[in-house]
Formats: sequence, structure tokens, C-alpha cells
Amino acid sequence: MADPGPNIIFIMSDDHASHAMSCYGSQINQTPNIDRIAKGGMRLDNCFCTNALCTPSRASILTGTYSHINGATTLSPARMNPDLAAFPQLLQDNGYQTAIFGKWHLGTEPDSCPKGFDDWTVLPGQGRYHNPEFICENENGLQRYTETGYVTDIVTDMSLDWLKDRNPDAPFCLLCHHKAPHRPWYPDEKHAGMFLNEDVPEPETLYDDYSNRASAAEAARMRVGPHMSYRDLKSEVPEELPEKQLRAWAYQRYIKDYLRVIASVDDNVGRLLDYLEEEGLDENTMVIYTSDQGFFLGDHGWFDKRFMYEEALRMPFIVKYPKEIEPGSVNDDIALNVDFPSLFLDLAGVSEPESFQGRSIRPLLRGETPDDWRDSMYYRYWMHGDGCHNAYAHYGIRTKRYKLIYYYADGLNQPGTGDEIHEPEWELFDLHQDPCELHNVYNDPQYASIIKDLKEELHRLQAELRDERYYKDRD
Ligand code: CA
Repeated sequence: MADPGPNIIFIMSDDHASHAMSCYGSQINQTPNIDRIAKGGMRLDNCFCTNALCTPSRASILTGTYSHINGATTLSPARMNPDLAAFPQLLQDNGYQTAIFGKWHLGTEPDSCPKGFDDWTVLPGQGRYHNPEFICENENGLQRYTETGYVTDIVTDMSLDWLKDRNPDAPFCLLCHHKAPHRPWYPDEKHAGMFLNEDVPEPETLYDDYSNRASAAEAARMRVGPHMSYRDLKSEVPEELPEKQLRAWAYQRYIKDYLRVIASVDDNVGRLLDYLEEEGLDENTMVIYTSDQGFFLGDHGWFDKRFMYEEALRMPFIVKYPKEIEPGSVNDDIALNVDFPSLFLDLAGVSEPESFQGRSIRPLLRGETPDDWRDSMYYRYWMHGDGCHNAYAHYGIRTKRYKLIYYYADGLNQPGTGDEIHEPEWELFDLHQDPCELHNVYNDPQYASIIKDLKEELHRLQAELRDERYYKDRD
């Protein structure tokens, strides 16, 4: 009988930026348990999402497809095509025990609730931090009920209970998907006292003035400060403060809660790792920790994600699997969220459906980058000026050194929500010279030939990935 493949534990949190993890060199917090995965395995330094928003990234991870293929281009009403092949079903069909607990965020109507899982219990929508409601399915159909306690603990309890009850003779794939640290960042009692008498260091670009980046300047509702809610800040906004002081004040208010909420995630990752070690499962289990996209931790003066800038684009991705991965290793090849399901099927020895657009990163994890591995990636954010954050739709390409972004300003998704004041805009960043992306050099003549090459590659990717609407460039 063929080797059944390793077990998989896929831990994904929501909006956890890599620069709030000590294994990625965080200057603002410690994540000792999450770091255990990186120390025992590999850290990916250039893992990117293809659309930095919760629902779209989750749809890409399930189906191995970009947003324009799977349909989940924005939050709602855009929906993931339920007929696309998704990895949980393929693993289940091939002898894996499968389960998901926690955040789902792809809908909980009969046609959009989790499929291909032996067991599932998920939060409706974003879910709540305290005493959360859950949805599961039994012989009477979909059931809603409330659990008492803190969401990160409860989701971990469900995961551990399922592991204890599983059939030990068949491999498993467990998705432990935390709601945390998505806003509004309500910490549990255990961590509420962290950072009380200290200031968290400010990021270098907290007071970005957005000069020569008009689209970034328009996203005023992503700025730390006046547009954050009482729930975000647990306080009224002192509007009498000048903007700079207000930003500094609001940054401390939200970042401390964000980090407190992450401390609970870290503790709970430790509980899962402890269980695997105690049961002797750690050798034959691939454990992954990631987040659906990154997050601005005051970077560029923002909270939230959406933009193709580094802090939102980059996903943390650490993975431990002693049979194949050198402990403490680091990889900087370009990996994408659409690659994840290809990895899972590769591990299980299951062939990929034709619809998958990514590629298994298993060779990267073994330290063997294929010669023809990608050296550029395509990104597209669709949710044009949503009236809530005012981030404009854009697409772009990132290579190891450059990033070219085009804010295409056609307002197709939500006409009338800002398009009338917005002109198309190109941005080019030289990430070697300008890692903070403060200097748009698109109009600098010395980059003309680089821009020409990047546009060619951008259009090649749009054609290859079948995002055909734009590959005949309008510029
Ligand atoms: Ca998210």
C-alpha cells in the first residue's frame, strides 16, 4: 500500500502581519510558540496573497485560483463559485480525515457552507471574540448555537477534541482558523494587562505624507485615528488633538489590543504543538502557521490591508515537517496563497485538478528551488472605493526587486463611490532602494526600460492567468 501521506495542521489567523511575529524580527512583540514552528522548520520571506482581503484570500487558498476565476473578488455580494474543485474535498475523497474549526467567512448558506469536511464548526461572518456564536451541521441541517468563553481558546479546544476523537489509522487534515487578530481586537482577560505601562514602538512610516502617491492619499479612511470606531479604540476619539498627535494616540490604543489578541493566538498555537509532541505526532505532521493576508501596523499611517504595499501583501508562512524540512531554514522564493492547495495535494499524493493555478511549494520546503520557479507575481484588489476604507481598485506585479502598481480607476464594481474624483495612477517602487515604498519613481526616466519590461511581464501574467479584461493595456 502506498504511503498515505503526512498529517496536515493548517493554522490560519486573520490579519496577522508577519512583522508582529518574533520569528520575522518583530520590534513590537514576542510570539514564542509560533516561533517554535519556525525554529523547527522553515520561514518563507516572500509569501504573498493575490488579493489582500479576508474572503478573497480564503477562496484562493481553498481552490488554488485567483479572484477573477473563483468569483470571490470582494467581500459581499461576490461569492466563491461552489462548483470549483477545492482541496478539502479532494483530500477527503482520498482517505484523509478532514475538519475545519473557526473562521470561514465564505458564507454559511447551504450552497456556501464548508464542503469536503468530516466535521466543521465555524463562526458566522467575522465572528465574535467573547461568547461567540457558531454554526455547524447535523442530521437536522444547519445549527446555530453560542459557546461561552474566548474565541481563540474555543477554536483550539474544538481542534484538540477532534484530534483526540479521530481515527488514528488514517491521515488527517485539520484547519484551525482563528478569527483573531481581526478588528475590533478584544483581548481576553489573561492578556488584557499587557503593555499597560509602556509604549509600543512606532513604525517608521506612521507619519507618511503620501507625497507623489495620490491613490494612497485618498485612502483617508484607512488612517489610524479619526475614522476608527469606539469598538476599535475602546474610547472616544479626542478630536481636539492635531492629526499627528491623534495618530500617535490611536496607534497606541489599537496596536496594544492587536498584540494582546495575538498573545492568545500564540498561547493556543503552543497548546496544539504540545499535543502533537505528547502524542508523538510531530514527526509525521506538517504544521503550518499563516494568515489570510498581512496588515498595516501603523505603517503608512494605516490600519487594515487592501493595498499591494508590502505590509498587506506579505503573508506570514512558517512550516514544520521534520521529515523534509531543515530546522531553522529560510526561503525567499516567491510563494503565493494559490500555491497552498497544490502543496496539500502533493503531500497526499493526489493529482491536481486542471482548475488549479498555483504550484506546489514542496520543493522549496526541501531546499530545492526548481530552475523554472516564478520570479514575478500578479496581484489584483477589486473593491473599488467601498465608502468604508476608500482604497481604490488596482492591479500590479511584484518581482524580487520591483513593484509596479496600476490604480485603474474604472469604478466597475461600485460605480459612483469615488471614481469621479480619481484619476488612473501608476506607481513604481524600487524595493532595494526604497523598502518602505515612500518614493514612487514611475516618472523617473532612469526607470523607463524597467517599466517597459515590467509591463510586458504584467500583461503576460494577466494573459496566462486569464484575467483578460485588462491585459490590453490602456496606458
Ligand atoms: Ca483577513
